[in-house]
Amino acid sequence: MAFDYDPQNIFARILRGEIPNKTVYENDHALAFEDIAPQAPVHVLVIPKGAYMSLDHFAMEATAEEQVGFMQAVAEVCKQINAEDGFRAIANTRDHGGQEVPHYHLHILAGQPLGKMLA
Ligand code: IMP
Repeated sequence: MAFDYDPQNIFARILRGEIPNKTVYENDHALAFEDIAPQAPVHVLVIPKGAYMSLDHFAMEATAEEQVGFMQAVAEVCKQINAEDGFRAIANTRDHGGQEVPHYHLHILAGQPLGKMLA
């Protein structure tokens, strides 16, 4: 499928420094920052710096270096939260997945029991 990236989406604007964010971690390929409307005591978003609209877009077209950089950011976030007690990672994807911001982002939620999502 063709991935159609909108450079005016809010996370692209955060990456360009047009909108402030509460940064948790940053490297050459990824930025982790606090979600503006947290759904749990810890709610961090990890995004690639490249123009990828969704998890599948990133998985199919990002370079190995970008993918490693992204996962390093995930690892750093896991070090900063109480990962021993567990957490949830979610990548809402396009309409059926409930994605609102069309720049790939991984939600990391933690800090309380989050219940079971899938039976
Ligand atoms: P989605 O529904 O998976 O696309 O999630 C988008 C997330 O981005 C939501 O949890 C929003 O609260 C969050 N969000 C939207 N704008 C901002 C912002 O400016 N800073 C931080 N988080 C944001």
